[in-house]
Formats: sequence, structure tokens, C-alpha cells
Amino acid sequence: MQILRPRSLDEALDALAAHPGATLLAGGTDLMVQVNYQGRRPEVVVALRRVPELLQMEDGFVGAGVTWSRLTSAPWPGLAQAARTVGSPQIRAMGTLGGNLGTASPAGDGLPFLAAVGAGVEVASRAGGRRTLAWDQFLVGPKRNSLQPGELILGVRLPTDLPQRQEFAKVGARNAMVISIASACLVRFADGAVRIALGSVGPTPLRAPRAEAMISADKHPSPAAAAEFGRLVAEEVRPIDDHRSTAAYRRHAAGVIARRLLERALA
Ligand SMILES: Cc1cc2nc3c(=O)[nH]c(=O)nc-3n(C[C@H](O)[C@H](O)[C@H](O)COP(=O)(O)OP(=O)(O)OC[C@H]3O[C@@H](n4cnc5c(N)ncnc54)[C@H](O)[C@@H]3O)c2cc1C
Repeated sequence: MQILRPRSLDEALDALAAHPGATLLAGGTDLMVQVNYQGRRPEVVVALRRVPELLQMEDGFVGAGVTWSRLTSAPWPGLAQAARTVGSPQIRAMGTLGGNLGTASPAGDGLPFLAAVGAGVEVASRAGGRRTLAWDQFLVGPKRNSLQPGELILGVRLPTDLPQRQEFAKVGARNAMVISIASACLVRFADGAVRIALGSVGPTPLRAPRAEAMISADKHPSPAAAAEFGRLVAEEVRPIDDHRSTAAYRRHAAGVIARRLLERALA
């Protein structure tokens, strides 16, 4: 196995241009599980931890190499709350937002925030230059993203007009070190507009447009309106049965989290 350790974005792009099939390594908390337990044997690995351009977090940009530990104090409450729920201190010290996007698991805890706020994913390659994809152009299926050979994720670009009313929650089989059975991030703007995105209840993070439209039209939602919001969210998700949960429980949990996050945002 050949390991390349670029020290700048230029060097990383050169390494990828020379080895378009290379495997990218950030914190390794997903990749090394595949290497150690699932027999994955990459021929060429490009290790990104020494690339300073991927570590930036400013002006609405979060570099792909920013760890969950750093994100726990990010200025976006929805993302900071999600970061606090990821794995353990060791996983948060190594794992990155870029790795979450690279893996593109429906259970990736950073992804509902990106979907709720309408983030763009910035990618780059030597051949194609830089491009920005809307989150739903980037995340195209379970563990599938639209990264091209030779491309890497630079980071995410967030809208600059986000409100502070951002809430994240997840449901799992226990309280800590747990992969989500259902998760959600809700953002409420000063004019009452609500955006919600849910994880682990569809092939990619999902928005719930009917629920969003219903609750956004109501400037002062009553408890009954919040309950109806939860009911609509539960209708709109597309969960499956798997080893972590039944689809029916996921649907129920999605509705409950949605209602509770709305209540938190209204408090
Ligand atoms: C014990 C344990 C608990 C966990 N708990 C959680 C949890 O609670 N919530 C959660 O969401 N996840 C969890 N995970 C999964 C994992 O920690 C996260 O998905 C993490 O964000 C991965 O980041 P990483 O930097 O370690 O990625 P890596 O393992 O380095 O890479 C993951 C994938 O992304 C690609 N990649 C990495 N960086 C880039 C880049 N810049 N451009 C293009 N591709 C890139 C890699 O090639 C690889 O395919 C857990 C994992 C473990 C082992």
C-alpha cells in the first residue's frame, strides 16, 4: 500500500491527478473499519490531515478536514449539537465532516444539518477545477455521492443568513456511541419559516416539504399545530427495516423528534 502525504491542496490535487483511483484518508474512522474488518485493501492512499486548506472554518465555510471535536463549538448550533452526538471523544477527535460526506451514510449525523440549511458541497480536481454542488446533488443514495475520480471534497459552504434557532436530535439504541435510528435537524427563521431534514429514514437525508409548508404558514404554532407537523413529517419519511430498527419505529421516531425540535425552537 502506497501512502501519499500532501502538505498543501496543490500537492493533494497533484497526487490525485497522478492516481485518480486513490483512496482518500481523513480521520480514518470509517475507512480503517473497512480496512481492518472488511478486507478493503487500497493500493494508493492520499492522507489529507496535513492539508491546511481543508482545516479552515470561517465566513460560512467549513473545511472537509474539520473534526467533530472542533465542530462541537462551531457557531452553527444545529451542527454543534450534531457534533456532540458523534461517537466517542476519540472518534470526535479524528472523524471529520468531510469523511461523513465521503461515506454518505444515511445515518451520517452531520448530513441533516447540511440538508436543513441548504448547504453546498465544494469539490475540486486538477482536471475539473472547483465546483459547488447542492447537498442533494452531492448525496445521491445510500453510501453514494457524486464525487468524480480525481476529485476531493474541499468543504461545505453555508448560507450566511441562518438564524440561531437550530436544533438537532437523534434516536438510537442507547444514549451514547450510537448510530442513529432516526435523526433530524430543524431550523426556524425569524419570519416563522421552518426547514427540517431527517437522517436514517431514507436513502439520503430527506426534507419534509409538506410539513415545512404547513408549519411555516403558522407564525405562532399551537401544541396541536406542532403535533400535526410531527404527523406530516412521519408521513413524508421513507424508512426501511434493517438490523438497527423497523421502518415503523423509524417513522414514529421521526415524527416525535420533529415535534420536539419544533417545540425547542419555539421555546
Ligand atoms: C465507533 C464509531 C462510532 C461512530 N459514531 C458515529 C456517529 O455517532 N455519527 C456519525 O455520523 N458517524 C459515526 N461514525 C462514523 C465516522 O466516525 C464518521 O462518518 C466520520 O465523520 C468519518 O470521518 P473520517 O474523517 O474519519 O473519515 P475517513 O474514514 O477518513 O473517510 C471516510 C470516507 O470519506 C472519504 N473522504 C474523507 N475525506 C474526504 C475528502 N476530503 N474528499 C473526498 N473524500 C473524502 C474517504 O475516502 C472515505 O471513503 C462512527 C464510527 C466509529 C468507528
